[in-house]
Amino acid sequence: MVHNQIFRRGITEQKILAAFTDVPRHLFVPLSKRNSSYEDYPLSIGAGQTISQPYIVALMTKVLDVCEGQKVLEIGTGSGYQAAILAHLGVEVYSVERISSLAHNAKETLARLGYSVRIHVGDGTLGWQEHSPYERIVVTAATPGVSPYWMKQLNVGGKLVVPLGGPLRQDLTVAQKVSDNDIQEDIVCGCMFVPLIGKYGYRE
Ligand code: SAM
Repeated sequence: MVHNQIFRRGITEQKILAAFTDVPRHLFVPLSKRNSSYEDYPLSIGAGQTISQPYIVALMTKVLDVCEGQKVLEIGTGSGYQAAILAHLGVEVYSVERISSLAHNAKETLARLGYSVRIHVGDGTLGWQEHSPYERIVVTAATPGVSPYWMKQLNVGGKLVVPLGGPLRQDLTVAQKVSDNDIQEDIVCGCMFVPLIGKYGYRE
């Protein structure tokens, strides 16, 4: 997985490659799908949700561009795999998940592996005010626009990585907050995520 799917597609940062080597992806995948844990595609984790394709997780990690000690908010905990990768890179991870059964499983897996990721069950389109501001925000579900709450909870100079677009197809976008009210957006590539459901996402 690390060599063929991630390194050969141009993600060469040693720390990122080491995180993908060290974090056991199969523990984030339901038992019935474990044989496919390291394949080059997303997998169902139940409740109609997915653990993203390994390369997409790596690409989001790369463009999020984190440094040890930073505070990162993840929207869409899902299996907890992206959170584990970020925690492995030494950042303080706060993650919001809408579906409590997924949050519960992710919490257990992360704790079992010794990652101290804080998880909150709720509508991530509202961010997580209590621990703000964040230096980075990563959204792991498709969203029609940048929530005003993310803007408010992100530091000036901070980065937001988010799949922006329709429910079927999005642009993976890196947005840098350049002042209290302005962001500068760069599109990384096209992508396909499950929809973000919430006040500033899609409707249920
Ligand atoms: N990051 C996850 C991982 O590493 O497994 C993959 C996330 S999955 C592609 C998208 C997740 O976003 C789902 O678990 C879904 O329940 C969650 N989600 C959707 N709308 C949400 C919202 N408003 N707030 C928080 N989580 C939400």
